Order: sequence, then structure tokens, then C-alpha cells
Amino acid sequence: MPAVKDILRTMDYGPAPEANAEILAWLAARPRFGHFIDGEHADPAEGGHFEVRNPATGALLAEVAQGSAADIDAAVAAAKAALAPWQALSGHARARYLYALARLLQKRERFFAVLETMDNGKPIRESRDIDIPLVVRHFYHHAGWAELIESEFPQHRPVGVCGQIVPWNFPLLMLAWKVAPALAAGNTVVLKPAEFTPLSALAFAELCREAGLPQGVVNIVTGDGRTGALLVEHPDVDKIAFTGSTEVGRLIRKATAGTGKKLGLELGGKSPFIVFDDADLDAAVEGVVDSIWFNQGQVCCAGSRLLVQEAVADRLIGKLKARMETLRVGDPLDKSTDVGAIVDTVQLERIRSLVEAGRAEGAVCHQLGAPLPKEGLYFPPTLVTGVGPASTLAQEEIFGPVLVAMTFRTQAEAIELANNSRYGLAASVWSENINVALDAAARLKAGVVWINAANLFDAAAGFGGYRESGFGREGGREGLADYLVPAADVTEAKPVRLRSVDFSAAPAAALPEAVATAPRFDRTAKLYIGGKQARPDSGYSYTVTDHRGAAAGQVGLGNRKDIRNAVEAANKASAWAGVTAHNRAQVLYYLAENLEARANDFRDRIATLVDGDAKAAAAEVEAAVARIAHYAAWADKYDGLVHATRSRNVTLAMNEPFGTIAIACPDEAPLVAFVSLVAPAIAMGNRVVVVPSPVFPLVATDFYQLLDTSDVPGGVVNIVTGERSVLAKTLAEHDDVAAFWYFGVDDGASAVEAASAGNLKPVWAHARPVRWTSPAEGQGREFLRRATQVKNIWVPYGE
Ligand code: NAD
Repeated sequence: MPAVKDILRTMDYGPAPEANAEILAWLAARPRFGHFIDGEHADPAEGGHFEVRNPATGALLAEVAQGSAADIDAAVAAAKAALAPWQALSGHARARYLYALARLLQKRERFFAVLETMDNGKPIRESRDIDIPLVVRHFYHHAGWAELIESEFPQHRPVGVCGQIVPWNFPLLMLAWKVAPALAAGNTVVLKPAEFTPLSALAFAELCREAGLPQGVVNIVTGDGRTGALLVEHPDVDKIAFTGSTEVGRLIRKATAGTGKKLGLELGGKSPFIVFDDADLDAAVEGVVDSIWFNQGQVCCAGSRLLVQEAVADRLIGKLKARMETLRVGDPLDKSTDVGAIVDTVQLERIRSLVEAGRAEGAVCHQLGAPLPKEGLYFPPTLVTGVGPASTLAQEEIFGPVLVAMTFRTQAEAIELANNSRYGLAASVWSENINVALDAAARLKAGVVWINAANLFDAAAGFGGYRESGFGREGGREGLADYLVPAADVTEAKPVRLRSVDFSAAPAAALPEAVATAPRFDRTAKLYIGGKQARPDSGYSYTVTDHRGAAAGQVGLGNRKDIRNAVEAANKASAWAGVTAHNRAQVLYYLAENLEARANDFRDRIATLVDGDAKAAAAEVEAAVARIAHYAAWADKYDGLVHATRSRNVTLAMNEPFGTIAIACPDEAPLVAFVSLVAPAIAMGNRVVVVPSPVFPLVATDFYQLLDTSDVPGGVVNIVTGERSVLAKTLAEHDDVAAFWYFGVDDGASAVEAASAGNLKPVWAHARPVRWTSPAEGQGREFLRRATQVKNIWVPYGE
């Protein structure tokens, strides 16, 4: 007679289908969907309809409208008209609407879970236990923020009309991540769901009506990428929030360049899953399952690169193979299904072709043995070995249930392999040694790090990437800030070039103190790179004039090569990020002290160059000294947060420096503007490459001596003088520049934003003149926020 344990091992699950009659009835009553514009159902103006199918069965679910320019126009107009009355409501009143939406979603959790599963192919267990509860949580959390926005974000305004574009992998959750914070902050939205999965957004539209949300506050226009592009290009949209592929993110970056639209990009990833030899291997195996076989691996932050320490590699791979065999692939509506259907044939083909390309390169694929369902779009859970760090499968985002395993020997090697990616969305670290795990978390270039866990999410924590995984955060306090603008930024005024500059390298005009009898010693200001003065590569200089138009001196005419050298020097100075905040503060105080000691020289220089007003120049120097002291004070006080997410979990939101920030200075207030930009950036641990005002570069070049005498390590501040727009474009194109602050005149901003699309560096393009001497405008938290990116580290504890 067989033992019970043998029976248990051989026993199969019976089918446990989730009922979907209610969804079928709901769909039957709506064979053709229109858009949701100004609170009403709206038939497509001209685009017609397209079919939406269930990827698990191929069954037609509905026909959905293809949004055209006229539809986008109507939706944006509705959102714009709704803006003022929505903002006129109190935070408490807005909170009530968000709360009502949360309640309605909660009451329909099962409806939304089943609809999502039918539309997307994800297992019902996941839509029921993960997606929809998180959606509800997001609306409750942000109902709270609506309540608090005025007191917690004083001196801020909503951005305005937000165009929001979401992908198909978590259709309703991505909607929630975008709509809830936007509404809480007082914005109105036009959302475009993904063409494969628009149904839960259309069902959400019905909830908006039921909740009595004022017309036009939420508008939903369905369609494919063309509809998305129309939304991006619409002139009345103030912000684009996009989640999707890095490729489309780049297009959107270029399309919005120079428009003044605020932009948030949540893009792709190739996230490492690092297992050290002291990890709990069984727990790590479950982590892998939650990481790469969750949602068929169609997860932006999927731990798709398994990096395992050599000593435990064979054991872990053995355990993984065994665990893989227990995964049940099949009907997503079956409650015991682990892995459901791939969203569409396009995606299935992409996964297949990438895996084939990997095989051709020599990768070894281990796949689930059980047969796949005959109908529907399925891909088996796959474990790939025999790949190197540079192979296609280790570098490309597959967006499918395909795990690529590699080994490492030392911790340093693990970090190097992990960071060897153009992406930087998430990482998972497994070690029972908290010291090893936290050290790895600090060194990983990723916006989210899970320790001994994977794919944990919560509305209270920010989510978003480093590098080509995009910029901006969704969730938590940091996510909300992206739906607001500092009140001081709301102005129509544009910066102007104060004086034209002749960059031609003609012989210098006679300098004022030229002596008749013997030539004076030449004091052409050089560039400042890596802590040393450097001659410009071009070998040319240009003449700077004073306020009367007389020649005041010459400065080097920097070029592409100089910029490359400066960026290299900045990158080499990475130790600055590891200097204690206290020591960075000390260096800044020393700089302030030395500037004060030379106040008269700077006063005279500024007065001569700018307008002859010595009193104003003295005030500027005084403001510059105070500005540096201000950021010295901040250096050890711009704290991160511990978010209140799950129980028995510490979620640390750390403010980390970007690395090398490029700064293009404005023409106004040449000294105080220069220090107002450089000081916060370096106070937070960044290195900078600065292009000073081309009109007044001598103020910046005089600054070298202060840097030399104030213990600022070489390479932390690099200064390249020359034509701002030309140098700025080269910096914007440079892949080792991690962020850009452009405070020049308008025309340069659009070129910088367009050129930044290469490595998707965030650009802070300031389109307003700043009264730099005023503390209200020229300093404060916004500068520190722009100097840092938030990394959320999740540290669960207990059992
Ligand atoms: P996708 O970029 O093709 O499409 C995303 C959305 O953009 C869709 O709604 C699509 O219609 C729209 N779109 C396409 N072309 C457009 C254009 N030119 N202008 C404007 N909108 C356009 O991505 P996808 O295949 O739907 O989703 C998969 C990608 O999304 C993966 O790369 C994944 O990593 C990423 N993703 C990222 C996150 C994150 O938070 N970082 C979350 C989920 C998915």
C-alpha cells in the first residue's frame, strides 16, 4: 500500500477555476467601448475600434476605441477646464474623492482581479492577492496625502494637466500609481492605457462616475502608441508621466525637449538577484520564483540576472531546477496556476527570438518539463546558464519568464557584475549577514533594493530607477513631489542673455593695464580640470569685456576634448561621495571663509564686469558667502526617511548623489548663481563640471584659487569656459554625466534635453530668471532634491 507521503507527491491538483460570469456579463453589455472624456462615454472621433483578446484563450473580449488627435484634444481640454475647480477644493474635499475611489475599488476587488486576469493573462492568484490590493492601498494612501498636501508641501503648486501613459504588465496598478498621486496633488489627468490591456482602466472610468468625481478630472483615452504620441505632443499638457520601455522613453524625452513639460520616466530593467554563500538558499529559491516567474517575468523590476556565489552555485541551481518543476503553467483563471499566459503574440515572439539568439550564442536553457496548454500564449519558465556578462541574454531586457544565471567569487565582483548594465531599476540581495547585505545595497546602482526579499511594493515607498531605467519616483513622499512644482517656478518670464559675446579667437584687444615699454605677463585664465589649471585643447581663448565694452581679460575656449577630460576627472573623484557629510560641510565652510577673505577682489571684479555698481557687487559677494555656508549647514542634514510600509520591515529612503552633475550657469549674478548651483551639488556628494556664464567667466576662473586653498579635492569641481550652448550639448551627450542642471538661456535647454535622451539623464532645465541673491528663490530644499536620487532599501526582519 502506498504511503501517504507518496500519495501526496503523486497527487495532482484538481481544477479550481475562478468564476467569471460577472465579467462576461459586464463585457456583453459593452461590446464596444468609447473613451471617457469629461465624465462621459465618448465615441472615437475618427480612429475606429480595435479588438482586445484574452491571451489565455484567444477569445475576443471587447472592441476598444483608437484615440485620434480630436479625442486627445477633447480630453486635454476637459482636463484643463477641470483644473481650476479641482484645485479650488480643499485638500480634505479632494481626499474624500480619493477615499471614495478606494472604497469602490475595494468593494469590487474580485471583479477587477478577474477582469485583469482575463485581459492580461496573469494568474488570478496574483491579480487577486497582489495587483488589486495594492491598487486599493494606493488610493487610500493618497487620499491621506490630499489631506496633508498643503501643510506638508507649502510653497508648492500642482503641475497642471498630466498626460499619463501606462504599459500592459500591471494595467490597473500602473493607473493607480499615476492617477492617485496626481489627483491628491491637485492635478487633472488624461490617461492612456496600453492597447493590449485597456479594460480595467475603462472599468475604473465607471467608478469615477460612481464616486461623483467632478467631470474632466480623470479622462481616459484608449489607443496604441500613436495615441500616446499625440498626448505627449499636446501643447496644453504640463507633465508627462510615462511607464514603459526605455526605447519609447527616449522618444518621449526627445519629443518633450524644450517644451517646458515636466517629465517622469519609469522604464525597463535588467535587475540583479544576488545570492551570497551565506544566504538561506531555500528562501532565495522562493525569492527567485517571486522575482522572475511572477507575472510571467513581465515585470520591469524582475530579478532577471541571478548572480550566485561560486561556492553555493551548484546547490542553488539544483534547488531551482527542482522548484521549477513544481510550477504550474496554465489557465490564469485557475486558482492553483503559478504562471499564466504571455500578454500578446508580439511579446511571445520577442521572448522566443531573444532566447533563440541566446542559444545561438551558446547559452544552455533548462525549461519546465511539463507540457504547456495547447491553446493560448505560453512560454515555459526558463533557467539559462552558460552565459557571460556581455551576452545578449545577460544584457537585454527579455520581459518574460527567463532567468539568466552567472556566478561570482567575491563581493566586489558581485557588485561589478550587478552594476554592469545600462539599467538601474531594482536589485535583490540575499545574505544572512546584515553587514554584507547593506554594504551591497549601498553600492548597487538601483532605485530599489530588497534584502532577503523580492518584489515588495507599497504606496508609502518610492519606486523608480537610476540610469536608463528612468527618473522620477512613484509612491511615497518622493513620488508626490513629482506632481508638484515649487511656487517660485510658476512664471512666464524667460531668462535673457545679458550681453553678446564674441567667441572668435581674434587677437586680444589691448588690456587696460598694458604697459608701453614691455609686454605684460599674460594672465589668460585657463580651464580648471582635476584640481589643476589646464590649457584649452583648442589652443584658443576669447576676450571678455567689462561693462563699458573694454577688454577685461581672456579665457580659454573649451571644446569637446576639454569636456571629456573634465568628466573623466570628475568621475575619478568618486571618493567625494564617501567623505562624511561632516567633512563635506567643513570643506564648504572653509570655502565660505576664503571667499570672505577675498571679498574685495570679487567685489571689484563683479562691479567691473557687470555694471560698475560696487555696492551691488559687494552685496552679491556677501550673498555668495552666506549661500555656501547655507549648504555647508545642509550637508549633514538632508536626511532620508524610513517609510511606513509593511509591518516587520524597515524601508529606508536614502538620498544618494547622482555622481557627476553638469551645470550650465546663467548670465545673471555670476558669482552667487555659480555658488548657488555648485554648493548644493557638492554638499550632497556629487562632483560637478561647470560651464560658467560665457559673459562673466572671469568670476568663475577667479574662484579656482579658492578651490585650491579650501581643501576641495581635485576633480570635485571642474570648470570649462567657452560657448555655453556648445559645451552644454557635449555634456548632455556624455554617458558618464548622470544629471544636468541647465540654467542658461532658453534655446540651449531644448538642445540639452534632446541630447540627454542618450543615457536618459534627468535634466533640470530652468526656464525662469532667478533672483539669486534672494534666499527664497536662490536656495533651499529644491536644490538638494535635484542633487539627489532616492534609493529605497527594503529590510524585512523577523521570521
Ligand atoms: P511600451 O513602451 O511599448 O509601451 C508602453 C506604453 O507606451 C503603451 O501604452 C504604449 O501604447 C505607449 N506608447 C508606445 N509608443 C509610444 C510613443 N511613441 N509615444 C507615446 N506612447 C507610446 O512598453 P510595453 O511593451 O507596453 O511595456 C513593457 C516595458 O515597460 C518594459 O520595458 C518594462 O520594463 C517597462 N515597465 C517599467 C515599469 C517601471 O515602473 N519602471 C513598470 C512596468 C513596465
